[in-house]
Amino acid sequence: MRRRISIFGATGSIGQSTLDLVRRRPDDFHVVALTGARNIAQLIQDAKAVRAEVAVTSDPSRLAELRDGLAGTGIAAAAGDAALIEAAARPADWVMSAIVGVAGLAPGLEALRHGTTLALANKESLVTAGPLLMQTAREHGATILPVDSEHSAVFQALIGEDIRAVERIIITASGGAFRDRPLSDLDHVSVAEASQHPNWNMGQRITIDSATMFNKAMELIETKEFFEVGPDRIETIVHPESLIHALVGFNDGALMAHVGPPDMRHAIGFALNWPERRTLPVERLDLAKIGQLNFRAPDPARYPALGLASRVMHEGGLTGAVFNAAKEQALDLFIAGQCRFTDMARMVDRTVDVMLTRHRLQNATITLDNVRDVDAEARARTCEDRANTK
Ligand code: NDP
Ligand code: MG
Repeated sequence: MRRRISIFGATGSIGQSTLDLVRRRPDDFHVVALTGARNIAQLIQDAKAVRAEVAVTSDPSRLAELRDGLAGTGIAAAAGDAALIEAAARPADWVMSAIVGVAGLAPGLEALRHGTTLALANKESLVTAGPLLMQTAREHGATILPVDSEHSAVFQALIGEDIRAVERIIITASGGAFRDRPLSDLDHVSVAEASQHPNWNMGQRITIDSATMFNKAMELIETKEFFEVGPDRIETIVHPESLIHALVGFNDGALMAHVGPPDMRHAIGFALNWPERRTLPVERLDLAKIGQLNFRAPDPARYPALGLASRVMHEGGLTGAVFNAAKEQALDLFIAGQCRFTDMARMVDRTVDVMLTRHRLQNATITLDNVRDVDAEARARTCEDRANTK
């Protein structure tokens, strides 16, 4: 029997890597839904190639274009947020959640409500609404499989282990584009410089988030929410080679490390094949050639985002949703040339501060509506902050 799969965010970097794996095994999968936003040409091409049941764009103004491109193929075309939810409700065995941003939360929740196995790349789901996501999965007997490489690594290191024997989880970080730059330079680095990742080939936003370590901050929060461990048991280590993705420390002193090439198709393929392992088209590491692996403690002055993550994890509730929105807004401002690289962490810090004072974020119930409300307010407040400090 072919497995029924859907890919949310199919036109993006993770979505395309997922399709690459799926297309190599045409007899194994039946594609239910593919979704995108603005890259309609890609969406049409892929929907035809895998003969999806439905292709959905989140942007209603692009529906006619999508419909025209799929005319005569028998593939349905749809658009808008409601269509995304409808696509997530279609019976499927496995759903890839790879929309970028908080827009990925609602379709993921809908898929979980239908008991589907959710391969979760969308970091924002766990950061903004971790407890809601995990609770929804439990209530509906659904499984969440992590796709972010660090969390896939931890998940793999925990197979056959008892979570109660875990003392700590160590998430590795490359250190990003500026790990060796003098601190005093960071006020003046450009968007182009921040968009160069030393090891991974990813989109611009996540690459800049690696330079600030906002990406790592998101991953620490993801770790807390997904593995349900206390924030004080989660550590970060700078590992410039990006070959060890994470380590799990057990109560007998053992450290289990996951080592692999920096290729997202490993983590995606692991989730696609779970609970089996199957051959994947990724590089096999030659350790003798690599020679050595390096580690150093992250400098809190260089990476203030890590301190912010700790605060978010300790406060809990809707603090993660505020943090995520402020971080996205600050990143927009940096990319638009409206703030400096080092302003981003300061702006996020102030927004979290103000909103913690204004609302009882820690104790708030996490619902989709509450996440959307604080998201909008945090973005507005971050922009206002920028305008006032210009
Ligand atoms: P991309 O920007 O490459 O792709 C994002 C996808 O989401 C595209 O299909 C895009 O459509 C779609 N999209 C954009 N805006 C919306 C919206 N408002 N509503 C619905 N769909 C939308 O992102 P990545 O693939 O890099 O990342 C996806 C997620 O996975 C993110 O949460 C990221 O943090 C996470 N992740 C990514 C990793 C990576 O290596 N890239 C590693 C680990 C996690 P279109 O392109 O058609 O406009
Ligand atoms: Mg990662």
